[in-house]
Amino acid sequence: MGDPKAFLNNPRRHRARRAVPERVQDWAEVYRERALLPIIGGQAARCMDCGIPFCHSACPLGNLIPEWNTLVAADEWHAASARLHATNNFPEFTGRLCPAPCESACVLAIDSEAVTIKNVELEIADRAWESGYEQPQPPERLSGCTVAVVGSGPAGLAAAQQLTRAGHTTTVYERSDRIGGLLRYGIPDFRLEKHRLDRRIEQMRTEGTRFRTGVAVGRELRADDLRARYDALVLAVGATASRELAVPGRELAGIHQAMEYLPQANRAVAGDGGPAVSAEGRRVVIVGGGDTAADCVGTALRQHASEIRQLDINPRPPELRAEGQPWPVHPKVYRVTTSHEEAQELAAEPGDPREFAATTVRFEGAGGRVRAVCLAEAEPGDRRPRPGTERVIAADLVLLALGFSGPEHGSGLVDQLGLGLDPAGNLARDGAFATGTDGVFVAGDAGRGQSLIVWAIAEGRSVAAAVDRYLTGSTALPAPVAPTDRPLTVQ
Ligand SMILES: Cc1cc2nc3c(=O)[nH]c(=O)nc-3n(C[C@H](O)[C@H](O)[C@H](O)COP(=O)(O)OP(=O)(O)OC[C@H]3O[C@@H](n4cnc5c(N)ncnc54)[C@H](O)[C@@H]3O)c2cc1C
Ligand code: SF4
Repeated sequence: MGDPKAFLNNPRRHRARRAVPERVQDWAEVYRERALLPIIGGQAARCMDCGIPFCHSACPLGNLIPEWNTLVAADEWHAASARLHATNNFPEFTGRLCPAPCESACVLAIDSEAVTIKNVELEIADRAWESGYEQPQPPERLSGCTVAVVGSGPAGLAAAQQLTRAGHTTTVYERSDRIGGLLRYGIPDFRLEKHRLDRRIEQMRTEGTRFRTGVAVGRELRADDLRARYDALVLAVGATASRELAVPGRELAGIHQAMEYLPQANRAVAGDGGPAVSAEGRRVVIVGGGDTAADCVGTALRQHASEIRQLDINPRPPELRAEGQPWPVHPKVYRVTTSHEEAQELAAEPGDPREFAATTVRFEGAGGRVRAVCLAEAEPGDRRPRPGTERVIAADLVLLALGFSGPEHGSGLVDQLGLGLDPAGNLARDGAFATGTDGVFVAGDAGRGQSLIVWAIAEGRSVAAAVDRYLTGSTALPAPVAPTDRPLTVQ
């Protein structure tokens, strides 16, 4: 700890964002380049070195937060990078995208404002790339063992990087045309520019990881054949089966799942042409309340939608921690994402584009196309429409962002490998990430259900340790989480 009074004297400061009217004209990240540079040392110095750092255990990766805060405050960036990369394969992704449960658990946050842990992480990560600290780490010796990883999201990539560095010849199979999972085709460029992903993939290639795109395992390539060709198989296929909204009118044209819409938008930004479904000139209604819905808001704005509204069935969360969500849990509070900030600032009438406690009753159409959404107030508890509260709002494009029910079934993986499902419909695994089929392991959202990037990376690291042990009888690889670990909650 550099300045023991920094937490008293330095107020918490955030990264500066680009002005809303400027940033909605392009797809570049919303934050101003290099915005952290002038402030970050002072922010890291706010860390109190509190003795029992709850931040560290609230991070699924077990990031060594107080250690790198101290190093950043002392301007020791190379050492900070080494400590950060010791626990996190991809801090340039988490530093941008993690909801930062660590900050909710920061001891300073008990009665003051938390250290800006995520921003410190990001600045270390970006500076590591710029300064050339983040070099490829090819293995010194090959083990002679081979591993196939199916799925190239953060879980698959973290597993592959760990296994390659441990000397196992690892190949990642991805059904899509590009590597990255939801980092590539879910999260828009304005939150993660894709050259950052390409740079990491290039590093992995240099280390020896092999990539095969355009291969849907279970369809184009039988999963049991793949298992027979490799010494171990890791399934990191995500949980992308979208939840449905079974209300009258769902069949109308102009109603799409968010994950039919967002990937096309990302492809258009990548120069693939399109998108086939665009919000341009349309009155857009987004049904749902999470990250995916917020990403639809920001994407529709950049496509020049004429109007955007979002319906969230949950009541508006409180501004501050509710009593039932005490420190150090990550509380459900009212948050204004960058996309919501943009929608508020650009709307004809000021105000939040979100309607809370709003349930969709039916869709109305003309000529087979959606023209309106009938909504009602959701009763607290069972969320049924409250009688007498129905009203109709115009809509030319409806995007359903209701979350995901688990991994997509029907891909052939379950049948061909003889896998089981857990009660929630995820791929079943034991305490060592192993399925009942010899040499087949499961990591990330596919086993955990819809979650977060930080959990996916943590699972990727842990499954790599489990596979290493399976192949060699022991392992020195870290295993930050068990399959049953969950975020801290209050019962
Ligand atoms: C729009 C959106 C925004 C999000 N925003 C955030 C955020 O801001 N912060 C955060 O922490 N989390 C966010 N999440 C959640 C986060 O992206 C996921 O939890 C994370 O990507 C899960 O990683 P994964 O590797 O398990 O799976 P995924 O990222 O889903 O990757 C799975 C991969 O497997 C491939 N695949 C599937 N089946 C096969 C097959 N049979 N053969 C070959 N390949 C296959 C898929 O094509 C995909 O590329 C967001 C999710 C969405 C949808
Ligand atoms: S990965 Fe997320 S939880 Fe962990 S230190 Fe970074 S921001 Fe915090």
